[in-house]
Amino acid sequence: MTYSVIVPCYNEEAVLEETHKRLTQVMSGMGESYEIVYVNDGSRDRTGEILRDLQKRDEHVKCVMFARNAGHQLAVTAGLDWATGDAVVIIDADLQDPPEVIPLMAEKWKQGAQVISGKRKARDGETAFKKVTASVYYKVINFLTGGMIPRDTGDFRMVDKKAADVVRGMPEHDRFLRGMFAWVGFRQDAVEYDRDRRFAGESHYPLKKMLKLAADGIFSFSDKPLKISTWLGVLYGFVTLCLLIMTLFFDIFGVPLGGLRLYILICFVACTLHICIGVAGEYLSRIYDESRGRPLYIVADALGFENEENED
Ligand code: UDP
Ligand code: MG
Repeated sequence: MTYSVIVPCYNEEAVLEETHKRLTQVMSGMGESYEIVYVNDGSRDRTGEILRDLQKRDEHVKCVMFARNAGHQLAVTAGLDWATGDAVVIIDADLQDPPEVIPLMAEKWKQGAQVISGKRKARDGETAFKKVTASVYYKVINFLTGGMIPRDTGDFRMVDKKAADVVRGMPEHDRFLRGMFAWVGFRQDAVEYDRDRRFAGESHYPLKKMLKLAADGIFSFSDKPLKISTWLGVLYGFVTLCLLIMTLFFDIFGVPLGGLRLYILICFVACTLHICIGVAGEYLSRIYDESRGRPLYIVADALGFENEENED
């Protein structure tokens, strides 16, 4: 199988027929074998029936039906597990990511790129609130992760089997897939596109889910928040030192100390407490690292070994 297209679906009855039509047009035009893996994420509308029907009509269609709603990132994860293509495409069901961009990604893939992200040029149909919060969020997360997460990319991307296999082997529960696909490395590239409005229906990403995803992004890829405490401790230590020097001068010049001694005590206690919390954070961050079970290193190619499969 050359291409697998993964489509997570949650209550998408209004768009699925049209999505399938457009995807089929694009994929059949590419002249290579393909499968479309629809993941029904516990929809409560007719999504399941429509998918069963599509699967009967079209041999390219495969369906994974969830027993209950697990969320977008897990639906995509299941799609990844079931997809068998040499290149895997992840695309939303609502046609906000235009399928017509897939052949452009495929071109880059054929030239050797292994993770090709869709980079949003225009964000049509998104509120000013979403645009501003997204922009601030990317600044924050890139500060915390040392610039690892590409700006303006969502989950729309094409991934080579090798990179997909590494992500398949990452068992972590709170998943921020766009971060994981950046983290694996390999040859990364991007294709710019205009993100459309939703074809029909409404967004299933309310603010609460968005905030959870945003938090997963930060906490899965940065342990800086755990270390903030240490820095606060150091800051309090510095203030304590300044106050100590002040008392010394006040004593020498006979200026009344007022509550200075109390301030010194408070700052000193704050300093030691913050540093202790920071030390606990260091252990916690290491336990967290181990518990995620991520691979220690990722091999892009291994040359000269007997196992030919590893060679390009
Ligand atoms: N989705 C899903 N499970 C969910 C929520 C969303 O599989 O719990 C799917 C949805 O069907 C769509 C994609 O994830 O294909 C993106 O969701 P949506 O369009 O609602 O989010 P937005 O584009 O508004 O951020
Ligand atoms: Mg959408």
